[in-house]
Amino acid sequence: MRSLVTGGAGFIGSHLIDRLVERGDDVVVLDNLSSGKEEFLAHHSQQVTHHHVDITDYESMSPYFKGVDVVFHFAANPDIRLGTQITDTDLRQGTLATYNVVESMRVHGVPTIMFASSSVVYGDNAPMPTPENHGPCMPISLYGASKSAGESLISSWVGTFGLQGYIFRFANIIGDRGTHGVIFDFIHKLKKNPTELEVLGDGRQEKSYMEVGDCVDGILHIMKTQNESLNLFNLGSHDTCSVRRIAEIVVEETGYTDAKIAYTGGSRGWAGDIPRAMLAIDKMNSAGFNVKFNSEEAVRHTARVLIQEIGLNN
Ligand code: NAD
Repeated sequence: MRSLVTGGAGFIGSHLIDRLVERGDDVVVLDNLSSGKEEFLAHHSQQVTHHHVDITDYESMSPYFKGVDVVFHFAANPDIRLGTQITDTDLRQGTLATYNVVESMRVHGVPTIMFASSSVVYGDNAPMPTPENHGPCMPISLYGASKSAGESLISSWVGTFGLQGYIFRFANIIGDRGTHGVIFDFIHKLKKNPTELEVLGDGRQEKSYMEVGDCVDGILHIMKTQNESLNLFNLGSHDTCSVRRIAEIVVEETGYTDAKIAYTGGSRGWAGDIPRAMLAIDKMNSAGFNVKFNSEEAVRHTARVLIQEIGLNN
């Protein structure tokens, strides 16, 4: 099997590649290393080929789709907050990039796509836990809008050109090789100032967390067992963890137990943040997949491995 992974040098993409190599795939990676790292792929030799390509440039990215059996599309701007300052990043790195991917697939006859979407497509005030058939989906961040647009492009390429699509709406994915997100930020803040941890919002924001190994196992399990033309699945754990609890866990795990946790106040971390989110995972469970870590276990595990990776003493 020849797999192409956009964003394969990133956090989730590189974990997926570990599994693809294990099952014997040849893997082509398109990644411009804007947030990914070559070292995440360094342990693979012949089976993985990385091309330093920007997928917003159709002419340079499209030829790599020739002879590919399946595309895993992860490349995107990972920073939801960026949209509060720069308003065309998600349009280019999300919506336009996804158009380039599905169009390259049509041109080169690639049959199947997996897309990394997000719980943020459901927008504010969705019922908790949120099922896949909740709608209308009205995202409140520019990142969310680009994920929603990506889903629509895939669904229209399925309907018009016979593509097969697997769309996954992820909860917050955390684990080793993480390069962004709340746990990563808290460790860096404590490293800089071990006496105080500033937390955006009132700490009552509450979301589901899924360990990255569970996430990539879930993707591959569902792609193996489900065979609709368009397959839509939430991927997450069955509970939530509050930001306040995450702050406490990170403080405990760093050993900086005298650190004062200071809240900036307000119910949202930033404009466009969704303070409470939990996905319904009945469909994922019915497909025969369950997670190994609940939210709090995933948070503690991630705090430990990221403290090792980041290091507190340099
Ligand atoms: P990441 O930043 O580690 O991975 C994204 C990768 O894409 C990086 O390696 C980056 O260098 C690459 N990339 C970005 N723009 C590119 C471009 N124009 N051309 C080529 N490569 C490009 O982030 P991640 O957390 O691994 O996220 C992977 C995907 O999953 C993203 O689409 C993200 O939106 C989605 N997602 C992540 C989470 C999460 O909690 N981490 C939740 C929901 C959805």
